[in-house]
Amino acid sequence: MSHDDIKDAIIMAGKVLVAEGQDDFTRGHISMRLPDNPSLFYMKAHSIGLDEISRDNILTIDLEGNVVAGTARRHSEVYIHSEIFKVRADVKCVLHTHPTYSIALSSSTRPMKALSQGGALFHNEVGLYTDTINLIRSHAMGAGCAKALGPHSALLLKNHGLVIASQTIEETVIRALMFENAAMIQAVAEAAGDTSKEFPADDIAKLKHDISRPEQFKINFDYLARRVKRREKA
Ligand SMILES: [Zn+2]
Repeated sequence: MSHDDIKDAIIMAGKVLVAEGQDDFTRGHISMRLPDNPSLFYMKAHSIGLDEISRDNILTIDLEGNVVAGTARRHSEVYIHSEIFKVRADVKCVLHTHPTYSIALSSSTRPMKALSQGGALFHNEVGLYTDTINLIRSHAMGAGCAKALGPHSALLLKNHGLVIASQTIEETVIRALMFENAAMIQAVAEAAGDTSKEFPADDIAKLKHDISRPEQFKINFDYLARRVKRREKA
């Protein structure tokens, strides 16, 4: 992927996230590590919506959170990204949003359950950061998030939001959408009354494996990207 291809992927990811309801004013951000220099990453700028990212306002940032290229304002929560990239060499993309049902789940004492197929994807694999409701504005707080994430792809910031970290931008975005959908189904199911027993762990693990294949994330992201483009034309 060329640098422009990476920027274009971030731009489309932002549009897909907004089209799918993961915007919260200008909050929320997404980043991608540069394949030819893994100690740098591209990141959405402050003061714009996720659907207003352009090649010109994407910042280049190092693993200490310093802007090394670009003139736009940097998100103060850059440390979520830099500290995860620092300790997770496998992670190429980090996303932070404020989706309603995910925040509701983060405020409960309940784990993500396999009450839906999306729930199965995250079964027993969600980190929880509980140090503060505030913005993640320091190296130490970012490191706390990275620690709470551990080896997983999903992290809830208690009463604040969702973080997804994975190997591709397609997987990161689709996981964020699936997480929020699963959290919504769980909220509705638990509000409706006693939920029935989950399926056995091996059944859940088999589905998790099947829907975690990289091409599944790409196929579904590409579909949402085509839908965004069709709407732009209309
Ligand atoms: Zn936030």
